[in-house]
Amino acid sequence: MQHDELLIGTMLEGKARWVAVRTTDTVEEARRRHGMSPVATAALGRLMTGTLILASSLKGDESITLRLLGNGPLKGVVAVGDAQGKVRGYVQEPLVDLPLKDSGKLDVGSAVGIGELAVSRSLQNGEVYTGMVPMVSGEIAEDLVQYLLTSEQIPSAMLLGVLIAKDYHVAGAGGLLIQPLPGATEGDIQAIESQLGCLDTGISELVAQSQSIDEMLDRLMGQLPYQVLERRAVGFSCSCSKERLSDTLVSIGKKEITNLISDGKAEMVCHFCNEHYPFTLEELQQIYEEVGE
Ligand SMILES: [Zn+2]
Repeated sequence: MQHDELLIGTMLEGKARWVAVRTTDTVEEARRRHGMSPVATAALGRLMTGTLILASSLKGDESITLRLLGNGPLKGVVAVGDAQGKVRGYVQEPLVDLPLKDSGKLDVGSAVGIGELAVSRSLQNGEVYTGMVPMVSGEIAEDLVQYLLTSEQIPSAMLLGVLIAKDYHVAGAGGLLIQPLPGATEGDIQAIESQLGCLDTGISELVAQSQSIDEMLDRLMGQLPYQVLERRAVGFSCSCSKERLSDTLVSIGKKEITNLISDGKAEMVCHFCNEHYPFTLEELQQIYEEVGE
């Protein structure tokens, strides 16, 4: 059985680099955990896929957070990825449903809306750098390309796609990033553009139809010569734990904890993975004791 994987390589004799990723299982797990509608699944799936692609150049315990702060009904889409190929994320309004576009595709752009894309990089030394760019369309791949161009001065081509089956399962999800390197000629860039422009199938359909990520890559690259340099496993994974959430309880203060104690119990829910953590009365009283005056 296939599993989600990210491949890194070069093409056109080293004059461009690329990152390709299959995220079908990762996006399906996000859909199942959050109980998301098709358009919410497509939006978060595209953002998580793009996050994994951008996170592939991080080192050690660095991580990257992408936030789509659009004015659409999803009211915000967030994904966090790290150098180990782990990604997690959520949408504010997971049940949003919109009519399909005339093309029959999910209307991710309208669901996300227009606003700012915020990209935060957490470095190994603990510093966090955040860059904000205006979104282009809310379709996500175009927004990330614009971010890479304006914030990092790197011209890129990016494809991100999520295919939802009739029964709402994720049938295919994946992404591709191509960046020309120094030495690439106008002709090289045109060759990349014309190859991506002549794909008659979306990347999510290609993932769904391919028996392996290598087959998907062959179909995406067509006649362009390419080389695979690295392969990594990727997947949905959250860093939450009951200990972390009890720290959050400590930070809300004594008055709120007293209210929870009077209810007799409390349940903390992780935004990123929708895991539920129940706290008993005894645990709440212990947390109450830990809170300073
Ligand atoms: Zn979590």
